[in-house]
Amino acid sequence: MSTKAYAAQSATAELAPFTIQRREAGGHDVVIDIEYCGVCHSDLHQVRNEWQNTTYPCVPGHEITGRVTEVGSAVTKFKVGDLAAVGCMVDSCRECESCKAGMEQYCTSFPVFTYNGGDQHLGGVTYGGYSDSITVDEKFTLKVSDKLNLAAVAPLLCAGITTYSPLRHWKVGPGQKVGVVGLGGLGHMAVKFAHAFRAHVVLFTTSPGKVKDGLRLGADEVVISKDADAMKKHASSFNFIIDAVSADHDINAYLSLLKLDGTLTLVGAPEKPLPVAAFNLLLPRRQFAGSAIGGIAETQEMLDFCAEHNIVSDIEMINIQQVNEAYERLLRSDVKYRFVIDMASLKN
Ligand code: NAP
Ligand code: ZN
Ligand code: ZN
Repeated sequence: MSTKAYAAQSATAELAPFTIQRREAGGHDVVIDIEYCGVCHSDLHQVRNEWQNTTYPCVPGHEITGRVTEVGSAVTKFKVGDLAAVGCMVDSCRECESCKAGMEQYCTSFPVFTYNGGDQHLGGVTYGGYSDSITVDEKFTLKVSDKLNLAAVAPLLCAGITTYSPLRHWKVGPGQKVGVVGLGGLGHMAVKFAHAFRAHVVLFTTSPGKVKDGLRLGADEVVISKDADAMKKHASSFNFIIDAVSADHDINAYLSLLKLDGTLTLVGAPEKPLPVAAFNLLLPRRQFAGSAIGGIAETQEMLDFCAEHNIVSDIEMINIQQVNEAYERLLRSDVKYRFVIDMASLKN
């Protein structure tokens, strides 16, 4: 099926209109008419080849919500007209230990990412959500409650699950002091979830203009990370810190804020390595960890949690024609707090 999309043709090209092919629905497939797609900083890293693995043309987008327009004969979870969502993965090997444990994101033979993955049906690479429609196996398609705003749900599919999963894994809850570094798409969801899990939440931001929003979103305290004295006051006091920064920054400044056996988990994926000073880990026995998105079952759990607690992303809606400008704003940390593309703008 010929499908309208937006693609980058090289690391230095802007995103522009492009036509892609989607497969016809197989037995287990659903075809989704894409209504909204979030703009993740990973889209920008990928489009500009900052991780040095991009195949062009590249159609990004892995925060997809819309409606089912067609289902394969073996599909049981969806019917035509249902709301549906797709996140960062569209398949995995389904057989390895990680897949069997519901952690498809850690598939030992690599999950099939929604874009820039190996397309097992049509060959070439997978194309993401900056497009009219997508065909996905129902196993990798999520159910969405009609109680929530569908546009504001889209970012939950990456920014939401990427912060929900580590906060759950490290059992963040009441009585714990939890730090969130960077108030962007991921960071603002981390603040909302850590607050919902009833931790004491401290937001670290480089942007003085975000202090008020940080408090409104659920932070108990906001620290301007460029203020050395303010940082010092929190030395060796955190149980857990989640770092959602997209660019080069000093990780040691945050490691030194962990208490004994505290954990700093990186979810941000900056282009360059982050040097770690050994003594920031040795004393007092601190852990430095990482976490990637979440499994399919956990993503559904997160979406259900959000429906129950009325949690969605704070979004700025844009038309697809504004996406290049939105990327420039992401680079300036100027987003409140996730751009979501109204895909109707592509259809017209
Ligand atoms: P984003 O919306 O652009 O937010 C990034 C935030 O980082 C900014 O708003 C800013 O917050 C802070 N920041 C930016 N430049 C900085 C600098 N030079 N020094 C210190 N802080 C800086 O990005 P996002 O979509 O949330 O993504 C964040 C990162 O997570 C990206 O690298 C992305 O690729 C990665 N990611 C990883 C996963 C995963 O599975 N682990 C999933 C999705 C995304 P303040 O203004 O508050 O300082
Ligand atoms: Zn993402
Ligand atoms: Zn696997």
